[in-house]
Amino acid sequence: MNEQQRKQQAQIRSEEANIERIKNTSSEELIAKYFHADYEPQSPDIKKARKRRKEDIQFHYDFSIPEDMQRIGEGKKFLIRTYGCQMNEHDTEVMAGILSEMGYESTNVTEEADIILLNTCAIRENAENKVFGEIGHLKPLKLEKPDLIIGVCGCMSQEESVVDRILKKHQHIDLIFGTHNIHRLPHLVKEAMFGKEMIVEVWSKEGDIIENLPKARKGKIKAWVNIMYGCDKFCTYCIVPMTRGKERSRRPQDIIQEIRHLVAQGYKEVTLLGQNVNAYGKDFEDIEYGLGDLMNDIHKIDIPRVRFTTSHPRDFDDRLIEVLAQGGNLLDHIHLPVQSGSSEILKKMNRKYTREEYLELVRKIREAMPHATLTTDIIVGFPNETEEQFEETMTLVEEVGFEAAYTFIYSPREGTPAARKKDDVPEEVKKQRLYRLNELVNKQSAESMKSYQGEIVKVLVEGESKKDPDVLAGYTERNKLVNFKGPKTAIGQIVEVEITETKTWSLNGVMVENRVEVK
Ligand code: SAM
Ligand code: SF4
Repeated sequence: MNEQQRKQQAQIRSEEANIERIKNTSSEELIAKYFHADYEPQSPDIKKARKRRKEDIQFHYDFSIPEDMQRIGEGKKFLIRTYGCQMNEHDTEVMAGILSEMGYESTNVTEEADIILLNTCAIRENAENKVFGEIGHLKPLKLEKPDLIIGVCGCMSQEESVVDRILKKHQHIDLIFGTHNIHRLPHLVKEAMFGKEMIVEVWSKEGDIIENLPKARKGKIKAWVNIMYGCDKFCTYCIVPMTRGKERSRRPQDIIQEIRHLVAQGYKEVTLLGQNVNAYGKDFEDIEYGLGDLMNDIHKIDIPRVRFTTSHPRDFDDRLIEVLAQGGNLLDHIHLPVQSGSSEILKKMNRKYTREEYLELVRKIREAMPHATLTTDIIVGFPNETEEQFEETMTLVEEVGFEAAYTFIYSPREGTPAARKKDDVPEEVKKQRLYRLNELVNKQSAESMKSYQGEIVKVLVEGESKKDPDVLAGYTERNKLVNFKGPKTAIGQIVEVEITETKTWSLNGVMVENRVEVK
């Protein structure tokens, strides 16, 4: 079946599914669905966003910029500020792609921009505070330049409280749109340009998949590739299942085709993205195909490096381990967020695994991939975490030997179950725990770095180092940052570097063919 036929098939399948669903839906439900909520421009509804229905995922392959908006941005510039995770960074690439197709050019200079979008993160309170700070800073510019369009999008705009606050206190914002509304950007920009009211369009729906959105990728060496969207895990502390909708996987052919295009454009590395990539394929009803199968198919593609993030331990199955153990372009680095080392806290977090089960998974991974680097995410100070429970996290970090970790103090998120819990752990104690944990992680990172002294590693050279333009920087297969002196022609290539000095978070070295020491 060729691409055209496959898309037609998908279209027919989704139309048949629509008809079937309508047949099985009561008239009240239909009225509720089409004349209320999901399909009307509206503000977010967190309760609705929590719900998961048994509806099929709709695939759309027909995105295009309406003709009257294709030149609307000519002679104008856009700036997108991105907060939060890789998913947001990639959404920014999509929005930049859409705006570029509307004729806009990108700029880094705030004062030059005709459209400023804040692509926000809701994961912790301080992420939100930063955005509100920025919203405030932009007010004088808007007063000076009334035609400037300022938009707030991303995860924060999926929260009712945020939208209310902007509506009440930040009238200089022109546009608020949600994570399910990105493809509507051309229409929203047009409405904001010609309307007088603040435009709010946030669908609290479970989510569709819009396939052919344009992308203006940030670099030419490494690329993000979404393999799935949303999350159904509902960890009790986390807002993501409400801001990103239900777990839904892209079709394997679409992912593989995207990676093939990236190879043709010269990209050397792809990172497969999802909130919980191990759940990939669980929503397919017509095929049995999971992340292991996808990785196995990508293993055969001529792309030198493939990474994936983020893994949830619960869905990390033996098939995936077996496929990853083949190596080749599947790299020896697994980011496996544990969150806590205490089974009691894990239960309260609704992580659905125990300390022992996590350690058993690590054992299996190490057996199959003895050289793999393991990194993780940890939350300290979950409500009522005891000193003993925190100590269990410390001992788990040692036992696994994590080489890096993203560590966070628990931040209550409105609308999540944990936020309703009383918490008897003083903030000062949480800070001290975070400090102790970071000390341990730093020590383990430095130790792991020492083992590279004198070794020759393969580095994908990404560009000049941030601190010194004479030094090149890139990452090893196991995700270690390496700085070394070398010719600029090495940028975009995978080169061999001998490690001459190790630090806590990076390595220094000399390129093997071109022995120039880094000072
Ligand atoms: N889906 C991934 C998983 O479950 O491992 C993580 C995605 S989340 C965007 C990234 C990290 O943010 C989580 O692993 C968790 O450590 C942290 N996080 C999420 N909610 C948090 C909260 N309310 N307070 C502090 N950290 C939080
Ligand atoms: Fe949040 Fe848990 Fe989903 Fe990760 S798996 S995004 S922590 S709910």
